[in-house]
Amino acid sequence: MTENDKLRPATRLVHGGTTRSPFGETSEALFLTQGFVYPSAEAAEARFNGEDPGFVYSRYANPTVAMFEERMALLEGAEAAKATASGMAAVTAALICDIAAGDHIVAARALFGSCLYVVSQFLPRLGVSCTLVDGPDLDQWRAAVRPETKAFFLESPANPTIELIDIAGVAEIARAAGARLVVDNVFATPILQKPLELGAHTVVYSATKHIDGHGRCLGGVVLSNAEWVEEKLLPYLKHTGPAISPFNAWVLVKSLETLELRVTRQADTAASLAEVLAMHPAVKRVAYPGRPDHPQFALACRQMRSGGTMIAIELAGGKEAAFRFANALSIIKLSNNLGDAKSLITHPATTTHQSVAEEDRIKLGITDGMLRLSVGLEDPADLAEDIAAALDAVAAEAPPARAAS
Ligand SMILES: *Cc1c(COP(=O)(O)O)cnc(C)c1O
Repeated sequence: MTENDKLRPATRLVHGGTTRSPFGETSEALFLTQGFVYPSAEAAEARFNGEDPGFVYSRYANPTVAMFEERMALLEGAEAAKATASGMAAVTAALICDIAAGDHIVAARALFGSCLYVVSQFLPRLGVSCTLVDGPDLDQWRAAVRPETKAFFLESPANPTIELIDIAGVAEIARAAGARLVVDNVFATPILQKPLELGAHTVVYSATKHIDGHGRCLGGVVLSNAEWVEEKLLPYLKHTGPAISPFNAWVLVKSLETLELRVTRQADTAASLAEVLAMHPAVKRVAYPGRPDHPQFALACRQMRSGGTMIAIELAGGKEAAFRFANALSIIKLSNNLGDAKSLITHPATTTHQSVAEEDRIKLGITDGMLRLSVGLEDPADLAEDIAAALDAVAAEAPPARAAS
């Protein structure tokens, strides 16, 4: 227990994990160093045999990276956190560090594309079988359990459909099965949803998204209990090397100072834009967990603090309407990234999920008329006007040219 444990989240995000060098710098220092020097051979020996807990090599640990990890652990309410070079490095590490050939995992079907590749193609090549289930249907999770099931994996809200999964419900099934539940909490963010409190064993993030929040660095984090991190995760990370650059960790630790402010504002704006979208005749359906018409609104109220920063939109006119809408936007940019200060929109069927077979895509609810909107930090009124003008353009006859900027 440190002083920081008593503090409220917004304060922890500013001060948590800070260690100062002898210079007493205000802002967290960037230790851009691969290694460390020792005052004597005896000191080096003590460092290597663990008698002295200091730093040895930045593939194992680094002071700037450690500040980011400590601040993330305090934010999440986790005993331990380890940062990685990207979100995918975090997902892969969280799954692979505690699995062996012959084991079985169960994962929700609606996953970020690369997560789907890891569980359904890469792990099976190593002898780990995988069953994909419809995440919201708890009976399917129950039915998929086998004696050799070791891990469950899910995202909620899921990309790009903004469909929710009952995390506490799945956690209970996992516990009964003796499997650990790994939750990819990217879409909800650590501000709006706490999977560990809901019974998950491990939480993973792509820090590339809301945690950076300004579209600069790749990064990832794995959070869990201290014993598992020490015994399972750490040896895997140390010896296979998906270490984050100290520079990226420094950017991310500074970004955490504004995370709550940004996510809260982005979610408030998203809620107001979901209203604008839902009222327009060109829009067939809006999926936003903060709206009572979301099929899992009651679940959203139970496990999320608000509706979040992401909206799925289904346009009545299919792909043509979706393209016309996307091309008519001027403030909102076309990009597959998310969680950024800049509002970003993507057409999953032709971009992020282009390689998914059409039949599977439709099963996931990724239709040709669907767009995914990541709401940023712009003035909500400007975004509402941008959306309203673009929706009007969808209704107009001639497709407008994409606004230059
Ligand atoms: C972006 C993302 C990832 C992968 O993160 P990278 O930092 O791009 O490697 C994993 N899961 C979800 C839900 C994501 O949105």
